[in-house]
Amino acid sequence: MNLELKQVSKTFRRPRRSVTALDRIDLAIAEQEFLCLIGPSGCGKSTILNLLAGLDFPSEGAVLADGVPVSGPDPSRVLIFQDAGLFPWLNVQANTEFGLRMKGLPSAECARTAESLLEMVHLEKFSRSWVHELSGGMKQRVALARALAVDPEVLLLDEPFGALDAITRDRLHGDLQELWLRTHKTMVFVTHNVREAVVLGDRVVVMSPHPGRILAEYRIDLPRPRRMEDPCVIPLAGKILAGMQVS
Ligand code: ADP
Ligand code: MG
Repeated sequence: MNLELKQVSKTFRRPRRSVTALDRIDLAIAEQEFLCLIGPSGCGKSTILNLLAGLDFPSEGAVLADGVPVSGPDPSRVLIFQDAGLFPWLNVQANTEFGLRMKGLPSAECARTAESLLEMVHLEKFSRSWVHELSGGMKQRVALARALAVDPEVLLLDEPFGALDAITRDRLHGDLQELWLRTHKTMVFVTHNVREAVVLGDRVVVMSPHPGRILAEYRIDLPRPRRMEDPCVIPLAGKILAGMQVS
């Protein structure tokens, strides 16, 4: 699925003041692309993801998915947050199956799909565990499996690894790249970590705040899998960061 923002502006109107979160954004995301969106807090990254998810609408301009205006949420475009948002009253297996059950699929099929996804995110041994028994990284893996269960065309990820320790985050970077190389789903990954963006993205789009605008973009042609400590990642991240500080 390709996605497009055409001259998108978003203003949040409040009684005392209005905030222009996005100012005439033009951004096209190709089918199967892994796009990373970076920028300081408040530059409108989450606003863009919410628009792409159909959870909010632009004040001006158009948001398109495969050329059609986004009119609301749809299982073809799923959003994953920093807080995995799992259901504490369901175990790992039931959390993963949730979207499939909502679709009314037979339980045997739900179970089979969930099992293979849990294997893909290396959690097959934890299918009977409860959410409170999981580490932060495991929770994000379940969130990924649950999102993938409905077989979306686009994954929208809003700083999903922001709260994880460095070692867990490195592992999830590996898993996410593996998953993308296998499925080639369109990814829009938001982060404020420049190195993380270079590790994951085919392309990194840099935003600036007040009002949110696109400042620059970089194509990342480094071989995969990549890691945060790779000698080719560090200088490229340094160059992007330097560009952000000059402006
Ligand atoms: P980011 O994700 O890059 O940190 P956001 O997209 O969350 O930025 O926010 C962009 C700007 O819009 C910020 O100034 C924020 O305060 C404002 N904003 C976001 N959502 C709302 C809202 N629902 N009401 C009012 N202002 C908002
Ligand atoms: Mg945000």
